[in-house]
Amino acid sequence: MKGSSLRPFFIYNSLSRSVEEFTPLDRDCVTYYSCGPTVYLRQHLGNMRSYIFVDTLKRALAFNGMRVRHVMNITDVGHMTSDADGGEDKVEKTARVEGRSPQEVASFYTKLFLSDLKELNVETPDVVCAASDHIADMIALIKRILERGFAYVVRSGVYFDVEKYRGENRVGRLSRQSLDEQHAGQRLEHAPDKKSPHDFALWVLNQPTHLMQWDSPWGRGYPGWHIECSAMAMRYLGETIDVHSGGIDHIPIHHENEIAQSESATGKPFVRYFVHNAFLVGMEGAKISKSAGKFPVLEDLVEAHVNPLAFRLFCLGAKYRSELVFNIDAVRAAERNLYYLYGFTANARPEEEDSPWTQAYRERFHEAINDDLNTPEALAVVLEMVNKAYREGDHRVWGALREFDSVLGLRLAEQLEYLSKLKVPADIQALVEQRAQARRDKDFRRSDELRTQLRARGWEAKDHRDGTSEYVPRWN
Ligand SMILES: [Zn+2]
Repeated sequence: MKGSSLRPFFIYNSLSRSVEEFTPLDRDCVTYYSCGPTVYLRQHLGNMRSYIFVDTLKRALAFNGMRVRHVMNITDVGHMTSDADGGEDKVEKTARVEGRSPQEVASFYTKLFLSDLKELNVETPDVVCAASDHIADMIALIKRILERGFAYVVRSGVYFDVEKYRGENRVGRLSRQSLDEQHAGQRLEHAPDKKSPHDFALWVLNQPTHLMQWDSPWGRGYPGWHIECSAMAMRYLGETIDVHSGGIDHIPIHHENEIAQSESATGKPFVRYFVHNAFLVGMEGAKISKSAGKFPVLEDLVEAHVNPLAFRLFCLGAKYRSELVFNIDAVRAAERNLYYLYGFTANARPEEEDSPWTQAYRERFHEAINDDLNTPEALAVVLEMVNKAYREGDHRVWGALREFDSVLGLRLAEQLEYLSKLKVPADIQALVEQRAQARRDKDFRRSDELRTQLRARGWEAKDHRDGTSEYVPRWN
């Protein structure tokens, strides 16, 4: 970013449990790995909050003049119904229930996931890598761990020796949990030959009913979920990476295990900044979800005629480390702010230089973003700037607004084109059709009434001389 790249960027590092100044190993290429989805169902809005966070952080780093290389995995094998190896493979379970092959399930839900990301204007990572395409990388990494004595082979699989790795203090680096605090009892039932209930699978053996299996030096089997992320992160980003992110639920098991196996293989620090986002809560009772008891997905929002970017704005309205309560009215309120900004773009003066007074807003926006990604504060700055532009009739703020949107990702510049693709809501369509009929019947009083009703709902009618009409959202 021009002229302001020297401002330090601060982010909360779960490893030190403090807000730290972010300095990448190589400023020209920040290496960033984020845990992707397990593709056995459509990702719900809570999951999507994570991906919006990842995207916003990436955009914030770019805003600060850093180039980011981002890798995200797709887990299509080895993630069991319990994060701690127990139960059934999630993808295979869906395959069985839906009567499809695991590959069909994985490819179906991967496509849906990537299309949901697009709707939310989440940039596609530089590398999106499926676990099943990287089995050789995983086997090579497991070999290194075995060579260094941090793993062992038994009949049911290759296991990571957690007690040996943790040594005397037996405390996790990320979770600060001691082994005694972990509820490991139930993890023995599926693998009674493990040395300790805390050990986790690197490679699973002798599971004849498992559909996806590969040959390995230890026999036919499949990888554990945790080794996938370590192997793919190292494959594309090197043995020490700058940023690794995921939901806070990953801290006690998945990320703890990733660190243990990676560092025991390489002897080097695996991650320099571990960042975690908090949950979206309150979705259990969300009225928009199609099936009771299921968390709402993006499609539910679209069917409720909510612009997907309203959900993005709703997420940005809270700090990423705070729990956010899902509420459809709050998402609709965010949509009003979105359309307020869209409405402004219609009056913006892209061809004119920004007014000098925008500088103060640029500074405040940058400060908020660099303060551990304080997006609610940054949004407040944006709205305040637009309010001032309206109030003072000085709309020369487009340069600042576009720069702000490079972080917020609300598609301010593309909004006209984007909105034209949105479906007309059914209730609006009904009014449109009634009005077309009234015009055919030459009932102009009725036609005017309907025009007023449409206007109240945010839609404008433009009548053409040939008798046809065009209907556009009023924020256009
Ligand atoms: Zn992961």
